[in-house]
Amino acid sequence: MLLRWSSSLPCHAEKIISPRSGTMTLSDYVNTFGQAMLSRYGERVHKLAIDAGFTCPNRDGSLGRGGCTFCNNVSFSPNGRRPDPINTQIDKGRNVIARRTGAKKFLAYFQAYTNTYDDPRELQRRYDIALAQPGVIGLAVGTRPDCVPDNVLDLLQRYRDNGHEIWLELGLQTAFDDTLERVNRGHGFAEYKIAIKSAQKQKRNLPVCTHLILGLPGESPQHTYVTLSRVLNEGLDGLKLHPLHVVKGTRLANQWRRGEYQPWPLLLYINTAADLIEMTPDQIVYHRLTGTAANNILLSPHWCNRKWKVLNGIERTLAKRGTRQGMSLPSESAQ
Ligand code: SF4
Repeated sequence: MLLRWSSSLPCHAEKIISPRSGTMTLSDYVNTFGQAMLSRYGERVHKLAIDAGFTCPNRDGSLGRGGCTFCNNVSFSPNGRRPDPINTQIDKGRNVIARRTGAKKFLAYFQAYTNTYDDPRELQRRYDIALAQPGVIGLAVGTRPDCVPDNVLDLLQRYRDNGHEIWLELGLQTAFDDTLERVNRGHGFAEYKIAIKSAQKQKRNLPVCTHLILGLPGESPQHTYVTLSRVLNEGLDGLKLHPLHVVKGTRLANQWRRGEYQPWPLLLYINTAADLIEMTPDQIVYHRLTGTAANNILLSPHWCNRKWKVLNGIERTLAKRGTRQGMSLPSESAQ
């Protein structure tokens, strides 16, 4: 299932003929998760983000205590750190999304912290609770590349073998070890390569979605092109892009206050995301093209809370260029 980028893939020369403003949508340019699920199931499938109460080895002292310099999990956990029981979170999320979109099928998205960081029996207990909820057809499990031992991957593979939709979401952020060290990730690219190989070895067939951050300290668009090229070479099925935002309660916030870090401006993010989409083979599913943080903790950049402005900007940029996903492969200068 893991798709591997190959330099022998043809470079699409054709361009989209005059996209008409207002008649095309983002999924006309990008293989979006929503569209991929719609094609597979014939109806909408939404992720329900939950905080299952796990911790993280980069916070509990196993690897470190401070965590990644940009991490304040409140920024992506709607339930804060005293989460409701898993079934309650799913009930609430499902009701909101079902009212808004009419969706009936969902993936339980284990999002906050490191969702494979526990004994496999405990992991199974929490995953099983999620899968027992009405409408939940599978799991998306967010984790670090150094926290996916064989017994955890086997567990996820068993769910998949039983017909569940399963995604392993690996937070890599960048393929540059010096940047990973700079943001105190506590792992390098080597751990990511091992995780990917493990996900596809023997009889495993686990779809992997890799998370990348644009605008990490010291990184330019060129770094992101190289990162994309490296992860494509390892093989993967999905991607998530996220702007680095500065939120309260992080070391990055202190660096930003001291003027040591400046987030990317909106236009740079949009253009770089569009470049990456063009460089991504079209069978790879984009689960997300931007990210937001709660207003009460977001310090900068404020544009990242205007999700639709960012998404519309990416769509318009691709339309204006007359391109779409997969229309240009990584250039040699980017390797
Ligand atoms: S970003 Fe993820 S890996 Fe880093 S400290 Fe936070 S929970 Fe841990």
